[in-house]
Amino acid sequence: MDVNLITLTPRQSVAEQDAEYGPRLHDRDPDLCCALRKVAPLEAGLAGYDAWATGLRRDESPTRAGTPVVGWDARRGKVKLSPIARWTQEDVDAYVTEHGVLTNPLLMDGYASVGCAPCTRRVLAGEDARAGRWAGRGKTECGLHG
Ligand code: SF4
Repeated sequence: MDVNLITLTPRQSVAEQDAEYGPRLHDRDPDLCCALRKVAPLEAGLAGYDAWATGLRRDESPTRAGTPVVGWDARRGKVKLSPIARWTQEDVDAYVTEHGVLTNPLLMDGYASVGCAPCTRRVLAGEDARAGRWAGRGKTECGLHG
């Protein structure tokens, strides 16, 4: 099967964004920062498609516990597929081992979920996988998933 990889990039580099909005927008207005750097590029990339697929899993965080395998992304007017929604972390680990999937080395260094560097820290014992994302900022999602 051919895979057509497309790299989606924000309209501005970090330096250009800093010049327009000021430095460290991720600290001052992370919702705006995510809207500029993540949501807008994805939405441009999805234009012309009727459906999209994600790697969301129910066991990643309480906010993802109700993720449907097949859903309707009302905001974008597209079918949203989450084929591994019911997988556990153990399922993922087994698949990675069985199929030799390349993974981010940070996953083996305490980063259970890897996002942008300024907004990601290691996860502590007992925390859910996404607890290290925007830690202490009351933000749990970047906006790609509602
Ligand atoms: S995760 Fe942080 S740095 Fe990345 S786009 Fe969102 S606010 Fe900006």
